Amino acid sequence: MPNTVCPECTETIFVEADSEQGDEVVCEECGVELVVVGLDPIELDLKSVDDDYGSEKDDDFDSYGYDDSY
Ligand SMILES: [Zn+2]
Repeated sequence: MPNTVCPECTETIFVEADSEQGDEVVCEECGVELVVVGLDPIELDLKSVDDDYGSEKDDDFDSYGYDDSY
């Protein structure tokens, strides 16, 4: 099984041999969510949570409901 290091805590992480780019892995040491970004060699990146997109969606939803009620 190929392994690499966690970008967060530098602990060794084992990755499934048949992993593909975009697969998600959780570091057992620090619990951070990682995404496979490279396969040869295995490279992991922190799973990026798109905060802007989420809050933008919330704003739209809020303003829509607000407008609708008036
Ligand atoms: Zn870690």
